[in-house]
Amino acid sequence: MIAHQAEALILRTWPVHEADQIVSLFTRDQGKLKGIAKSSAKSRKRFGGALEPMTYVLASYVEKPRQELVRLDSCEILTSPLSDPVDYARATALAFFAEVLEETLPDHDPQDPVFRLTLAVLEHTRAGHIWLPVTYFGLWILRLMGWMPGITHCTVCGRAFGGDPAYFQSQSDGLACPDDRHPSSRALSPTSLVTADRIFRAPITAMAAEEWPRNRAADLRRFAIQALERHLERRLRSAHALSQLGQ
Ligand SMILES: [Zn+2]
Repeated sequence: MIAHQAEALILRTWPVHEADQIVSLFTRDQGKLKGIAKSSAKSRKRFGGALEPMTYVLASYVEKPRQELVRLDSCEILTSPLSDPVDYARATALAFFAEVLEETLPDHDPQDPVFRLTLAVLEHTRAGHIWLPVTYFGLWILRLMGWMPGITHCTVCGRAFGGDPAYFQSQSDGLACPDDRHPSSRALSPTSLVTADRIFRAPITAMAAEEWPRNRAADLRRFAIQALERHLERRLRSAHALSQLGQ
């Protein structure tokens, strides 16, 4: 048996055996793991609110040889999403981060850049301010997974967009110029291409003071979600919920 203590983000829990819970957690040192938290559903004393999705914790767990699940002994809360007001939109954004991480990360594969990205966006995900962190997270996850196409030149002919819109479609990766666009493609506006470029060059704090209403860079979010769903080969429930906000 090997005992570990590691920074981790809680992604999801499932009830099992009446009083226990299976917990999916993204640890900084060992990547995504699943553990069993004994009696966590019955007694909230041991884990308190520490198993809420997207809680940043210091997790103590034990790995046993030839066992898929680690034994989760305790989670000390470092930062809880519940320490700030939670409205429906913020809860939806938090669910989006958790679902994307759960579906995207391979097990037992440390991904420190993804861990740091998630901590940074969580800090900026406030009631009434979700569209910057959701957009920032969506684009950066694509890049860190190696799924982000170039945003300056047409994938087909290599021409620079240079102030023209770029076109994306659900069937394939890459952005196309107006001449090479697929008939069913959608546009990324020149303004959104500039925004994407800034997102890849600057920390989220550099953009946090700006106004981010729901319609800002909505095309970028549609692009990011479509690309994620294509690579994951499934629909993201939380992405659908995000698209319904404010309608
Ligand atoms: Zn082209």
